[in-house]
Amino acid sequence: METLYRLSNIRKSYGQRTVLAINELVLRPGTLYTLTGANGSGKSTLLSILAFLSPPASGELFFGGAPVRWNNAALLPLRRAVTLLHQSPYLFNGSVFSNVAYGLKLRAIRGDEQHRRVEEALMMVGLAGFEHRRARELSGGEAQRVAMARALALGPRVLLLDEPFANVDRDTSALLEELVVSLPGRGTTVIMTTHDPEHPDRLGGELIHLVAGELAGPLPAAA
Ligand code: ADP
Ligand code: MG
Repeated sequence: METLYRLSNIRKSYGQRTVLAINELVLRPGTLYTLTGANGSGKSTLLSILAFLSPPASGELFFGGAPVRWNNAALLPLRRAVTLLHQSPYLFNGSVFSNVAYGLKLRAIRGDEQHRRVEEALMMVGLAGFEHRRARELSGGEAQRVAMARALALGPRVLLLDEPFANVDRDTSALLEELVVSLPGRGTTVIMTTHDPEHPDRLGGELIHLVAGELAGPLPAAA
């Protein structure tokens, strides 16, 4: 079985309090994972480790079979393979195009290639033609789609989504759900946290359920 991530005895604490304790977890490439659990159960903490943004206090994280070394030189290529989309993403005051192109610019992807990727990403989120709109003048749902486009334009191997449907209207959430479900087939592994107890069933994929920072068995099927 091909392995993308492996977590081994991962612990994360704030002060004296352990907020994440995962003995063993294997995530496979090209898979959709829904990460569920109550508020404070450690979902965002787990995503920040998977995004290589915050090291565990102890334990070992493997990515693509190799142990992750938590120093900047080793982390740079890993961080480029993974994109984390926050729950309330920040759009700066500029055009939709420049917001979506932002990450590409940082990676020195310019010109035709940048243009192609921005257009394709906007198409995927249903915002073709929005290039010249002011990002700050968009509705909440549109802004969330622009943030998703900015993540998709990077073509990450792994897309980590922190409650992507929390603040969006019904139509946007239906569109984003359909998109998210299609990504594993395009080779992107998706790990998304959700509060919606229907999501794991509706979206398919595999369930990771956290209770007080520990892996727990699958949720009982919704009644
Ligand atoms: P979730 O995303 O499932 O709601 P989090 O991963 O954000 O949970 O938080 C897990 C626990 O860690 C919570 O009890 C939270 O209060 C605590 N926590 C998260 N970040 C910090 C921090 N920077 N400092 C102190 N405690 C934190
Ligand atoms: Mg959270």
